[in-house]
Amino acid sequence: MEKEFGQLNPEYRILLGPGPVETSPRVLRAISSNMLGHLDPQFLEIMNETMDLLRYVFQTENQLTIPMSGTGSAGMETVMVNLIEPGDRVVVCVKGVFGQRLRDIAGRCGAEVISVEAPWGKPIQPEQVRDALESAGGAKLVAIVHAETSTGVLQPLEEISKIAKEYDALLVVDAVTSLGGVELKVDEWGIDACYSGTQKALSCPPGLSPVTLNDKARKVLGNRTTKVQSWYLDLTMIQNYWGKERFYHHTAPINMVYGLREALMIVREEGLEARYARHKLNSNALIKGIEAMGLQMIAPEGYRLPTLNAVKAPDGVDEAKARKFLLEKYGIEIGGGLGDFKGKAWRIGLMGESSRRNYVILLLAALGDALIQQGYKANVGSSIEAALEVYNK
Ligand SMILES: *Cc1c(COP(=O)(O)O)cnc(C)c1O
Repeated sequence: MEKEFGQLNPEYRILLGPGPVETSPRVLRAISSNMLGHLDPQFLEIMNETMDLLRYVFQTENQLTIPMSGTGSAGMETVMVNLIEPGDRVVVCVKGVFGQRLRDIAGRCGAEVISVEAPWGKPIQPEQVRDALESAGGAKLVAIVHAETSTGVLQPLEEISKIAKEYDALLVVDAVTSLGGVELKVDEWGIDACYSGTQKALSCPPGLSPVTLNDKARKVLGNRTTKVQSWYLDLTMIQNYWGKERFYHHTAPINMVYGLREALMIVREEGLEARYARHKLNSNALIKGIEAMGLQMIAPEGYRLPTLNAVKAPDGVDEAKARKFLLEKYGIEIGGGLGDFKGKAWRIGLMGESSRRNYVILLLAALGDALIQQGYKANVGSSIEAALEVYNK
């Protein structure tokens, strides 16, 4: 080969985007532990512990609570392909990119899809779900995104859960950007199937997708009359690998499971309530600082997602240029707008290890600098003062 390949040596970055986010060195060390065979008794124990820890973060007793191989989208696809058979009627709530992805997958499963839509930046209203279920004469499931990463909206779920139950529809929830960072109570809220990803608020590298199904959802799975469309994601087989039988299906990504177990241990050591409070505090400080700079949040107050803070880019400011400046001058990554907000927003992730006071203060200063470069008068001093006021309250 002509080309010389240098040593792999990615530069250090401060990851404040929509994911992946910062990972604890403990997790990286766990990933580099000795390899085991995927049926080694030691690994089986690690699998059991990982499932227990996942039940803790999902706040569920569900037996079927496992990390699927693949990123968050694999979890999304897992839940949908396992619960939907061709011809089933399903309601999908769409208020951003990830709701659109759910709808796309439901369609590919052969479902008759009924969309319930809210404008980007707003939550779905429970009555919309009721109206859709009423006029359709019921549905097999209602799918909704808890934390819409494309808009920074936190979707309240409890009311919608009650409505789904009235119509005997399963409730499917995307908790990719909420699990481990925002309150989520799978059992108490009556969520029948839920999935997440490792590289967001769990602060683990990408590669696994935690999924949990309750007995009601498993019954639907057990009563299928057609095979699950995807062999790789077929829970009827995978549950026998993670269950007592330990039947080989596909090789678990051993080291990623080590990493997830360590990341979940860190969550447990901090405690869920303390972790939610930390995410909220850092997000509140960031928001105050953003507003003091004269910028606006996309999501309305009361529906803001602490893990993902979507900010409107002011008129006349090139949002991509500002991001490039942050990356080059500060080594900070933030996200740009997606879908309807392309070119119009920044998405600032404060998740897991990335949700820290020092990063909030640094980012406000750096973003202020990026704005000043483009001739926007950002008052960095007031911005930082406003954030500090939140911390020093
Ligand atoms: C990131 C994300 C996904 C997809 O996860 P990947 O890890 O990118 O596959 C799905 N839903 C939501 C809400 C997300 O934020």
